[in-house]
Amino acid sequence: MPYKPAKPCSYPGCPKLTYERYCPEHKKLMDAQYDARFRDRGVAEFYHSSEWKRKRQNYLIEHPFCVECWKKGKLTKASVVDHIIPIKQGGALLEDSNLQALCASCHGAKSIREGSRY
Ligand SMILES: [Zn+2]
Ligand SMILES: [Zn+2]
Repeated sequence: MPYKPAKPCSYPGCPKLTYERYCPEHKKLMDAQYDARFRDRGVAEFYHSSEWKRKRQNYLIEHPFCVECWKKGKLTKASVVDHIIPIKQGGALLEDSNLQALCASCHGAKSIREGSRY
């Protein structure tokens, strides 16, 4: 492992040292602001953001199979990363805990249940 020196948190005026951009406390805050920004600007814009595309790609590598089909004992390749709690209902945008891998047909069924246009 290469040695990485701790740096002060990038949040203005915060003296805490961190190995990431922000200390854990401010990372949480920045994540919340990030979420709020996209919730304002609209979900469609979020789905086009590079952060989401990267997240989605990595998530599908780690979770290659549809979780709904898995529950029914089927192994189907996932193609969609779904937000368990929809963004419009306040679900976290980039948290693994709010994501699940689905195949296109299970995602379609879920969207209909939720009354969304997607
Ligand atoms: Zn900080
Ligand atoms: Zn499925």
